[in-house]
Amino acid sequence: MAECVFCGIASKKIPSRIAAEQDDLVAFHDTNPQAPTHLLIVPKRHVASLNDLSTADAELAGRILLFGVELARSLNLQKAGYRLVLNTGPDAGQTVHHIHLHLLGGRALAWPPG
Ligand code: AMP
Ligand code: ZN
Repeated sequence: MAECVFCGIASKKIPSRIAAEQDDLVAFHDTNPQAPTHLLIVPKRHVASLNDLSTADAELAGRILLFGVELARSLNLQKAGYRLVLNTGPDAGQTVHHIHLHLLGGRALAWPPG
């Protein structure tokens, strides 16, 4: 496998602004933020996209989502609102092929995203 930037961040070989960490998940600041809060939540294990998940990954998938919710709560975003996004494949504009949940908040977010 070619060097994966998010595996590098998860293993701390590549520097990033880490916001929070759990046993098998890490959350860090996006380097090109699209909102005042823009975090990426990734599993430490390499999984290229949602297409690679199976029912055996149900717990991991749930915990990625709940980590996003927990971070949104800790940033006091629950009342104003926030968006959790998983871009998958070329039509969705996925550019990094390691699952990452975007947490966006701190401003009104347009819908549909275009
Ligand atoms: P996506 O289009 O869903 O694949 O989003 C990839 C995101 O990763 C983009 O928002 C990028 O700004 C972000 N990104 C790429 N490289 C890094 C990095 N080294 N550290 C933090 N964020 C990154
Ligand atoms: Zn990876």
